[in-house]
Amino acid sequence: MDELLIKMLSAAGISGYESEISAIMESELKKSSREVTSDDFGNIIAKKGSGKRKIMLAAHMDEVGLMVKYISKEGFISFIKVGGIDDRVLVAQRVVVKTSKGDVTGIIGSKPPHLQKDEERKKPVKYEEMFIDIGAKSREEALSMVSIGDPVVFDAPSGVLNGKLCYGKAADNRVGCYILLKVMEKLKADAEVYAVATAQEEVGLKGSRVSAFGIDPDFALAIDTTVAGDTPQIQERESSLKLGSGVAITIIEASGRGVIVGEKMKSLLIKSAKDNKIKYQMDVIEGGVTDGAMIQLNRSGVLTGVLSVPCRYIHSPNSVFHLDDVNSAVNLTIKAVEKLAKL
Ligand SMILES: [Zn+2]
Repeated sequence: MDELLIKMLSAAGISGYESEISAIMESELKKSSREVTSDDFGNIIAKKGSGKRKIMLAAHMDEVGLMVKYISKEGFISFIKVGGIDDRVLVAQRVVVKTSKGDVTGIIGSKPPHLQKDEERKKPVKYEEMFIDIGAKSREEALSMVSIGDPVVFDAPSGVLNGKLCYGKAADNRVGCYILLKVMEKLKADAEVYAVATAQEEVGLKGSRVSAFGIDPDFALAIDTTVAGDTPQIQERESSLKLGSGVAITIIEASGRGVIVGEKMKSLLIKSAKDNKIKYQMDVIEGGVTDGAMIQLNRSGVLTGVLSVPCRYIHSPNSVFHLDDVNSAVNLTIKAVEKLAKL
């Protein structure tokens, strides 16, 4: 796996606290774009090329995580979730509390099964019943290390399974951010292209909302990850997306509450994939929305598409994705932008 991708997956950045990943995005985008700015919201906006059309490419930087809420007198941390995390993936994870004084490692603890009553054992432990153990013996000692309101991220390494499957935390959506960088590096289109690394997507698509207003694009593509269906217990009719089968072209999100990709954009994306022999699969999804849903509603409406990389175990410390799908997404984004520039 590329060193840059590993660095991006490892960077901390829950919603609203994206500074680590945004610093990487800013310095990397400066290598390919003539102008890179940031706004007060935390979005990084890079501009490249010129032409009569404005095209916005958006990938969110934030990851799902936790935040310190309360510290017990025994020194254990209660937390809230920031973004959608299944409580079941939290038990016994190692986490990092990002404090003003540096990183503090902790373990998410819960009552061991040996001490649970029969009834308790039948139900998954809720996050409210869990705590972060940072090794402090008292509230005072804990407060000398961390503060209420500190963000918390998974402490999970990245790596490779059997050659081409990559794993790591925050694949949603550092994979999209990585694609954005690669696209800007290679792109030569006759259009004003804006690459936006957005903030606070996981908590309400917020960064894309404010940045789209500022840019006022003619067309937009959101680049994100989506849910793969190629693991046990998922029926093919629930999700037919497979790792390694190509970039996912979204048709509809959240049964229509998110983006409904317009005919014109849909056929442009499919034609670009076919003409250039880029592997793709169609994504019709009942849950989950992307930045595209917000950009599409900007001002008087923006023709918007969504391209995604399928991920297994999304929103967990160990998401798994295929590098070939990342490359397909880079290629299709470039080809689609070239076509959009001519519309
Ligand atoms: Zn996402």
